[in-house]
Amino acid sequence: TNNRPATVQTTCPYCGVGCGVNASPSATQGDETHPANLGRLCVKGSALHETLTQDGRLLKPNVFGRESTWPRAVTEVARAIRESVAVHGPGSVAFYLSGQLLTEDYYVANKLAKGFIRTPHVDTNSRLCMSSAVAAHKRAFGGDLVPACYEDLELANLLVLAGSNAAWAHPVLYQRMKASGRPGRRVVVIDPRKTATSDLADLHLAIRPGTDTVLFNGLLVWLADQEGLDRRYLAEHCEGFENTLRAAKSAAPSPEAVARLCDLPIESVTTFYRWFREEPRTVTAFSQGINQSSAGTDKGNAIINCHLATGRVGKPGASPFSLTGQPNAMGGREVGGLANSLAAHMDYDSPGARDRVARFWGTDAVAEGPGMKAVDLFDAVERGDIKVLWIMATNPAVSLPETDRIRRALARCPTVIVSDCDKDTDTARHADILLPAAGWGEKDGTVTNSERCISRQRRFLPLTGEARPDWWIIKEVARALGYEAGFDYEGPADIFREHARLSGFENSGQRFFDISGLAELSDDQYDTLEPRQWPVTGSASDSRRLFTDGRFATSDGRARLIPIASRLPARPPTDAFPVIVNTGRIRDQWHTMTRTARSSRLLAHRPEPFIEVHPEDIQALSLTPGALATLSSAHGHFVGRVRATPDQRRGEVFVPIHWNDQFTGQGLATALTDSVVDPVSGQPEAKHGRATLAHW
Ligand code: SF4
Repeated sequence: TNNRPATVQTTCPYCGVGCGVNASPSATQGDETHPANLGRLCVKGSALHETLTQDGRLLKPNVFGRESTWPRAVTEVARAIRESVAVHGPGSVAFYLSGQLLTEDYYVANKLAKGFIRTPHVDTNSRLCMSSAVAAHKRAFGGDLVPACYEDLELANLLVLAGSNAAWAHPVLYQRMKASGRPGRRVVVIDPRKTATSDLADLHLAIRPGTDTVLFNGLLVWLADQEGLDRRYLAEHCEGFENTLRAAKSAAPSPEAVARLCDLPIESVTTFYRWFREEPRTVTAFSQGINQSSAGTDKGNAIINCHLATGRVGKPGASPFSLTGQPNAMGGREVGGLANSLAAHMDYDSPGARDRVARFWGTDAVAEGPGMKAVDLFDAVERGDIKVLWIMATNPAVSLPETDRIRRALARCPTVIVSDCDKDTDTARHADILLPAAGWGEKDGTVTNSERCISRQRRFLPLTGEARPDWWIIKEVARALGYEAGFDYEGPADIFREHARLSGFENSGQRFFDISGLAELSDDQYDTLEPRQWPVTGSASDSRRLFTDGRFATSDGRARLIPIASRLPARPPTDAFPVIVNTGRIRDQWHTMTRTARSSRLLAHRPEPFIEVHPEDIQALSLTPGALATLSSAHGHFVGRVRATPDQRRGEVFVPIHWNDQFTGQGLATALTDSVVDPVSGQPEAKHGRATLAHW
């Protein structure tokens, strides 16, 4: 780091907005040149330097409970993998990765697992975040492709925010939406709760949880009845409209039926529908309230159906727009970090993909087919099918549903390897081998944000203790396994160039993910790489929006409308568990708080776990505002301070996802949600738990 300037241009490691940050050990400021934030930062980003303490960091490898050295730790990891493959086959080894990893880390992990160990079982915590949006994109567009860019949020004359508390979860995007307000611009917020984002709303639809497909099916029917469709766009660029409309009519035949099923005033439903028909410049931004559902993929497609039917895709100020949760969920998708994808936006069943990737990687064959998605993967761990589990940069003992089962599974797994910055996470406590990973500011690489923009994270701090970048750790294990030739990287620039080359390798143009224009970057050019939206090919083209010419990534170039039958949450409340539990982020914390809890300024916003309850429910349950209460499910409990708020619907409560046993010893939000998943995406229904609520 000696040659590095005191302040570097890097990227915030928190949410999927991907803000540019001018960072030094003592200060963080928004980067005015970065297209995502144009100088803005939210409170988490501006407090980044306050979290750079070495307290709690994992400083050395630890092998079977004893501090160790890198050579010993690498040898032990390689030995565990080699023996497991020899005795139980490649499928006995699994990787659980993270949207916090840099793209280069992700790429090397994916290559080692699928190309050399040949296990397909590589999944990521992005499964919990936006895998339903990925599946919806694939069904509609033929690929996991986000058509829009951030500018569209400012250009839209109708902004529909579905299942998104952007004010807290994507604060800088919210600031951009707010700042771009002008006379006549309308905002509709669809959310069972009245959140901080609702402050921007001209219309708040406090929808019954899980009925989003009804609302958007009803919109499609109404648009058809009111001649609000773009028939020409449908005819020239889309398939499946008639079947989709038929399904929508049987699910949501009239605005009155929608109002009843969604528990909304009829005037609100018709106002929303009328505004949608009137305004061609409409963006529907959707996030975890849509994705984290047992019908998340259908919800995404119900939204996209309405945009395709009105020709509002990939146009300035007119698109569906998935807002991703994590800093590099998108980069992980690019390399194949999701179990059902292979690499570089190729699926296992993409024609010729396995052979192409094997030839590119210089290996005989790659894993045979899709691996297990996160919830299924941990079920397999619990059954004893997975003998070696390598977890990187994530804390599944807190973040997956039914955490009691996850902890049991981890305890039963013969070899759990955890790469992390921190030594004492809930997951690290289950590790047989702990590997100290470099943290934000200590490593170099790239991330991709919600608008497909690749940005550099840059190093400005020395490594802490013996921590190493994740790509280096994986490379060392690969070499110890005997795969020297495929893993001779000297730095992240080597990996990035290879990743970029693979994206263009035998790519005839149907795969829109193509960054081969960056494959020949020199080390210096990689070092100074400015934010770039993909695709980046050799030819100069405008990458801000996709599908601008109405050509999609399907085999025939036409988009697909998907018939959607309305499905409600898989586990409705019962007499035994009558309260519906909604979970989500708060403004000043990030995920399981391993980093943000280090800043007292951030902790001050909401210093302890809470339960938001409607005042009439408080009265009915004889609770006391400000006192502690307990939510109990079949899997565990959560203790929090009761906050009375009319912003909750009756019978429903909200709890934050961040606190965990490490901080409170009083339970987890994820103990209140079941392991029910979307049948297409495998994403758990994290927005709809059920519990009892009583005094502590
Ligand atoms: Fe970081 Fe997201 Fe805040 Fe931007 S909006 S500073 S990326 S947490």
